Amino acid sequence: VMSKNKGSESVKVVVRCRPLNRKEESNGPAGGIVQMDLRLGQVILRNPRASASEPQKTFTFDAVYDASSKQRDLYDESVRPLIDSALAGFNGTIFAYGQTGTGKTYTMQGVWLDPEKRGVIPNAFDHIFTHISRSQSDKQYLVRASYLEIYREEVRDLLDPNHGTARALELRESPDTGVYVRDLTSCVCKSIKEIEEVMNVGNQARAVGATDMNEHSSRSHALFLITVECSQPGPDGRKHIRVGRLNLVDLAGSERQAKTGVQGDRLKEAAKINLSLSALGNVISALADGRSGHVPYRDSKLTRLLQDSLGGNAKTVMVATLGPAPQHYEETLTTLRYANRAKNIQNQPRVNEDPKDALLREFQREIARLRAQLNHRKWRSKQKKEQVEGEGWERDGDEETEGEDEVEVEVEKEAQEYVKLEEQRLEREKEAIREDQFLLAEEKQRLLGEKERMMGDLRKEQEATEQLTAKYKAMESKLLVGGKNIIDHTNEQQKMLEMKRQEIAEQSRSEREMQQQMLVQDEETLELRETFTSLQQEVEAKTKKLKKLYAKLQCIKAEIQDVNDEHVRSRQELEQTQNELTRELKFKYLIIENFIPPEEKNKIMNRLTFDPEEDQWKFQPLVPAESHCVFFLCCRPRTSCFWSWT
Ligand code: ADP
Ligand code: MG
Repeated sequence: VMSKNKGSESVKVVVRCRPLNRKEESNGPAGGIVQMDLRLGQVILRNPRASASEPQKTFTFDAVYDASSKQRDLYDESVRPLIDSALAGFNGTIFAYGQTGTGKTYTMQGVWLDPEKRGVIPNAFDHIFTHISRSQSDKQYLVRASYLEIYREEVRDLLDPNHGTARALELRESPDTGVYVRDLTSCVCKSIKEIEEVMNVGNQARAVGATDMNEHSSRSHALFLITVECSQPGPDGRKHIRVGRLNLVDLAGSERQAKTGVQGDRLKEAAKINLSLSALGNVISALADGRSGHVPYRDSKLTRLLQDSLGGNAKTVMVATLGPAPQHYEETLTTLRYANRAKNIQNQPRVNEDPKDALLREFQREIARLRAQLNHRKWRSKQKKEQVEGEGWERDGDEETEGEDEVEVEVEKEAQEYVKLEEQRLEREKEAIREDQFLLAEEKQRLLGEKERMMGDLRKEQEATEQLTAKYKAMESKLLVGGKNIIDHTNEQQKMLEMKRQEIAEQSRSEREMQQQMLVQDEETLELRETFTSLQQEVEAKTKKLKKLYAKLQCIKAEIQDVNDEHVRSRQELEQTQNELTRELKFKYLIIENFIPPEEKNKIMNRLTFDPEEDQWKFQPLVPAESHCVFFLCCRPRTSCFWSWT
């Protein structure tokens, strides 16, 4: 039994079943094997090869969505609360898990051009920017997006223009933000349109280089990351920043990759996909179990990146997707088991308040700095103008008058006027020099040149101010002010409808929770409520109960058998992979032993070290002959290999 700490909450797990597709329908009258009880949040799975007497398998989840479910239903009930939390400064993760072709991408992305069929990601874009447009003007937001994929255990930046050729990125860990990807591109997005563009660029990058997009997407994990930073003045008068990080994850297909006959690269790929997904399974099992102390996050890139999402500082929703076709019974059952286990994971989400690395803070500082610089310039011009006009009236250029818009506008106007006056003055002076008949031609030239230079300086100065202004404006435009930068086009009626829809979603969610609780209580209190008037009645009641418990026992026995079978199967698969890897290793050894001179081989081998961070063998750099004795004698243990290559 999990202990429920204060502030901890379990991973929400919902299941979605797609409709039978045309091909499956034409396969016969068998129909689907998945039945759903939406009110109770239950999935009932029928084994197409089992006898009628065998009990069906029932699983209960936070919510279930059948073939007729709408994208909106899933969003409003199961995703909206998560995005709301992220907007309030929590980390949030939603990941789609399931066999290829069961609707992971449909659920996460959907059909972009059809408003009814837009998936979680586009709906989240809408949600985030609408929220900003409706929030108060004392809130400032900075929204950023990144997009990456994990393919063959390598992290690739989908927003890097050189995506195809770029090196794989490294994972790093910081005490503040947890595990992150070093050098990952992140784009500041000011509107729905901009963030959609980011998504499109990434999707195109994904497709490029993939000979078969379907196959590629079934073998790679795609992670779309959104960071929403929000600054708001607190009761202490200071601006506080909350940072919500969203991971929107479309996982690789969960089906077992057929490994027979694959060689070389393909084998490596198959082994590595399974590595990330089986590592995910192991992490989920370890966390769900609650007893095993060690959680093997470090076994794969995916589990490291999702470390906070599973058992850490995040709110997490898992969408398990199923197909209804009888031929996928085994896979469907495996997915349901996986999902069932994930329900037991406890997270400890907390609001990320004023983290040291908030980009919004840096932006605010930079904007303030540019603004001060600009104001300083303008005041200087204004003062000069006043001197030129001979007013002799001075006012100290206090740059701290930020925010006093009227004063600023006035200063701006005067600064511009100063430039104009100064130009006119120089022009007049030049004219006077040209017309001065007492000046020597040489002298005239010199004076004119001087004036020319002064005009040049003036223009340069003006250009610099313009550049500074442009920089300032560009910087400032990246921050979204609540209710200001984005115009909310929805009218009152639409807003009412939205609210009603959200209320209904909220209601059906709590109703389902109550139903589930009642079901549990019913079973527990069955015994307490019964009082028997006769022996006969007691026998009947107890027989009924015995039958019920016996059925339950049979279910559990079948479950154990299934799990055992699964273990045997996966062990056989692992053994097969191992055999094939060993065969490949033998092949490489054969080449090395027979075709590479031993001293060359030793030289190479002694230069290699393993970098566990990158999961790669790396060459030690060759050090110039004089220096390396000193260096290596103090840094490395003296080994026989050491001397062989010096
Ligand atoms: P996956 O990403 O899991 O491999 P897809 O999202 O590509 O699967 O879905 C496979 C096919 O099934 C697509 O043609 C998709 O449009 C369709 N599909 C998936 N889920 C649904 C659904 N809930 N309703 C209607 N069509 C769906
Ligand atoms: Mg897909």
